[in-house]
Parts: sequence; structure tokens; C-alpha cells
Amino acid sequence: MQRKTPFNDLARAARAQSDDLVRIAAEVVDSGWFVHGKHHRAFEEQFAAYLGTGHVIGVGSGTDALEIALRAVRREGRNTVVTVANAGGYTTCAALAAGLEVRYVDIDEQTHTMSPQHLAEVVDDTVAAVVVTHLYGRLADVTAALAVCRPLGIAVIEDCAQAHGARDVAGRLAGSFGDLATFSFYPTKNLGAIGDGGAIATSDDDLAARARRLAQYGWASKYTAETPGGRNSRLDELQAAFLSYRLPKLDGANARRREIIATYATASSPAVRVLPAERPAHTGHLSVVVTRDRARLRQHLTDRGIATDIHYPIPDHRQDAWRQDATVLPVTESVVDHILSVPCFPELTDDEVARVADALASYTEVD
Ligand SMILES: *Cc1c(COP(=O)(O)O)cnc(C)c1O
Repeated sequence: MQRKTPFNDLARAARAQSDDLVRIAAEVVDSGWFVHGKHHRAFEEQFAAYLGTGHVIGVGSGTDALEIALRAVRREGRNTVVTVANAGGYTTCAALAAGLEVRYVDIDEQTHTMSPQHLAEVVDDTVAAVVVTHLYGRLADVTAALAVCRPLGIAVIEDCAQAHGARDVAGRLAGSFGDLATFSFYPTKNLGAIGDGGAIATSDDDLAARARRLAQYGWASKYTAETPGGRNSRLDELQAAFLSYRLPKLDGANARRREIIATYATASSPAVRVLPAERPAHTGHLSVVVTRDRARLRQHLTDRGIATDIHYPIPDHRQDAWRQDATVLPVTESVVDHILSVPCFPELTDDEVARVADALASYTEVD
């Protein structure tokens, strides 16, 4: 029987940590305090110290974090959000939920992240915020986005849902560059909970206060609603405690992910371009390869028992729910049919990594 290489297997880490996770859960259950307690506070402080930001606000998910961050920066006469169309649609979903319009900007062909040149062409004074996604775990060029946005008074939000622990050469972390940053702790993320979770990070005291209110009904204090546009989104005590336990393991796990991607890059045949995961600016969240005939490569891997996925198969402006027929994004539209994600998670065995590497090495475009 052929051995299967899974795309991801969350049970491996969870089983290895099972004694600790169960002990932590029992402690939270016994405490009788389940929301906005000491674990929530402790994780916010711990994650802010890790990121080097003044504030972290725990919320219910990465999409909630985006929606609340957008609500925090929106202003009169500024009803547009600018973002890329190849990052899974989370920003689109959050922007529409906040009652904002979305305008898309094309990506860079090499990095698949936002092109600062194209950004300069699409922003104007109706734009409230630009959301820069560190896609696949690769640090996008936030500095260039800031240079475009600052003179126009546009907020820059970093979507760090795939980039917990990505650093620039000076050691500054993803999430510490923009006006606000958002994180998801969905179980498959590099820092994943045992359920849903998210966070907003910022070093701006006013934005932090606004975001904190917006995440709890617009309350300035209990039962006193002062900030319009509030809703309810909270990181619960169980998830906060699990995340505090897992945060110290993040950098090591990211290093393992990068090592896996480097192995693929070294082995792969000329018919497959493995997007590089260079230290330290990449967390190795996903290993994405680019190839001419994706269906053929996918079949080649399937034949060898290797599971694959596509991140993401339909750009936002071509989704039925969000269609913008007049929007044309040449690079986004040209790469979308050529990307394929291959297995990349820290608990892959060396044997499994070798199997994927061998399959990428033996792939040819002709028989
Ligand atoms: C996962 C993800 C999100 C959304 O996070 P949820 O916690 O699932 O809501 C947002 N942005 C990106 C880039 C993501 O990968």
C-alpha cells in the first residue's frame, strides 16, 4: 500500500502536547472564569512583548480582527479599502461587513504580494485603509506601502494571519510596521489555537483604545456604549491559555517550515518554481510552487500519495459573491492558474519531506 503524505495533520502537534493542553484546560475549567480573565490579559501582554508593539487586543478570529481594525480607522468621506485579490478574500469579507467598498491592486509577479508601484496608481483621498497581506508567510513591503499612504492620510493595516514571527533584517516583526496589524489563530496558522482566535496589534494608543471598544459593543466601560460601530468579538480564556503555551514554540516551528521549503527548492525540477522562504522574512506558512501545467503537476503528486491544495483558486474580483467585472489585474489573473501548495507543516517527518522533494524532482512537462 502506498504511504500517504497529508497536506496538514493538526493531530500530530496536539497529541504531542496533549498532557499540557489537558492540564491547561482543566485549570481554566476549575477557575470558573472563561472570558476576559487573567489568561486573556497575560496572552495580550506576552504577544505584545513578542511583537514589540504597545498593544495587543485579543478577538474572536482573524476576520473579526480585520473588520474591527477597519472600523477603527474609517473616517467620514473615506469608504474604500484597498487590498490584493489573491489572498483568500478575508479582507474583502471583513471590509464588506464593515460597510466599506473594496478596490483591488495587482501583485508583484515574483513575490505574489502587493505591488507598491500599482498601489500608488489606485489610491486617492476616498481610501480609508490599505490592507497589506504577508501572503504565504512572506513579509510584504509595508515600508513602501507606508510611503504611498502617509501623504494621503491613509491607514496601513498588516494582515499577519500567515506571518506570525516573520522578521525584517533588522529583526522587527510582522505586525510592528503598519498603523494596525491583524492576526488569526485559526488552528492551521503558524500560531494556532484549539479553535478560533484572533488579535489586533498596534503601538498607537488611540487606535488601540478604539479597537478595544469596538470589540466589545462600543463600550467605554461596562454597559456604557460610546463608540459607534461596536460589536462583540472576544478571545476566550481557554484559547488565550493555549496560545500562551504555544507562543514560545513559534520560532522553532517556523525554522522547521523554512527548512522544509528549502529542501523542496533545492530538489525541484526546472519545471517547478518553489517560492523561496528566506530567513528571517518568511514564516513558511505555506509552500507554494508555480508551474506551467498545474493539473499535470497535481496529478503527478497525487499519484505518489501526496496531498495538495490551492491558495487561492479564485481571485476575489472573480468570486460570485464579490464580482467586479470591470476590474482587471493582469498578474493576479495570470498566476492564479499556475500555483499549487504542497505539504508544509512542522511535524512532517524527514521521510515525508524527502518523498515530496523526490516527487518535485522527478516531475517533467513532457513524457
Ligand atoms: C486565515 C486568514 C484570515 C482569517 O482568519 P480567521 O481566523 O479564519 O477568520 C485572514 N487573512 C489571512 C491572510 C488568512 O490566512
